[in-house]
Amino acid sequence: MEEILRSRAPGVLQHRVFHEMGLVHAFSTREGGVSRSLYHSLNLSVSVGDDPEAVKENRRRFFSALGVDPSRVVRVRQVHGDGVLVVGEELVRRKGFPPILLDEGTGYDALTTNQPRLALTITTADCLPILLFDPRKRAIGAVHAGWRSTVKRIAERAVKAMATTYGTAPSDLLAILGPGIGGCCYEVDEAVIQPLSQALSSWQAYVVEKEDGRFLLDLAGVNQMVFQEAGVLPEHLFLTRLCTACRPDLFYSYRAEKPKTGRMLNLIMLPS
Ligand SMILES: [Zn+2]
Repeated sequence: MEEILRSRAPGVLQHRVFHEMGLVHAFSTREGGVSRSLYHSLNLSVSVGDDPEAVKENRRRFFSALGVDPSRVVRVRQVHGDGVLVVGEELVRRKGFPPILLDEGTGYDALTTNQPRLALTITTADCLPILLFDPRKRAIGAVHAGWRSTVKRIAERAVKAMATTYGTAPSDLLAILGPGIGGCCYEVDEAVIQPLSQALSSWQAYVVEKEDGRFLLDLAGVNQMVFQEAGVLPEHLFLTRLCTACRPDLFYSYRAEKPKTGRMLNLIMLPS
């Protein structure tokens, strides 16, 4: 855990590399909020049946711990696809504050911006959150990588969107692969393995077959490989290796707690 910094403010995990670069960022935990029972305690989603007033207070605590203006927090409707939304001031202004949910009609699983003080967020409870930073072009990204988006190479799509939009060289890009369900717990069946094997050449390195014919999938490992194939340097990829299903004390896990549990928010923002 030495690369993972637990902020004095509850609910905030940070990575040493991004912290030292002065980036505002966090992978939220379930600690330090006011939600009760199944949602205990820092649930940051209003879409899962929790008391909206509790979520409001949780969001207030989380954003204020990070020094983030809530009216500058953006998110997208996540659809397990491969869409990347480029977030410019124009889009945010057109939508009018507080927008938060951008371009709702379409749905995306990654966002990127080079605008300071604009917080990009991804909501998760098992799916892999990935935060990106190009220190040379001063651009950031946030990615939601469940198995479907992983198979669609969302990691590579995000790298390419940043290259096209900001001139990001993949070799400059840094990525933190945050807390998600780990290869220890992520059981999948043939319905996942089949498309995975078709989409990725070296998928076998990240899959372990169990005796019952099911499989354990290392989602972070697969995304690490996709990033490398997209030109990101191995030494620029940081895996937190925190498993959401193994740590119910720290995280919400849809798999471990379904059908009802809270959601974490994963956030990155360029300071001014
Ligand atoms: Zn686990």
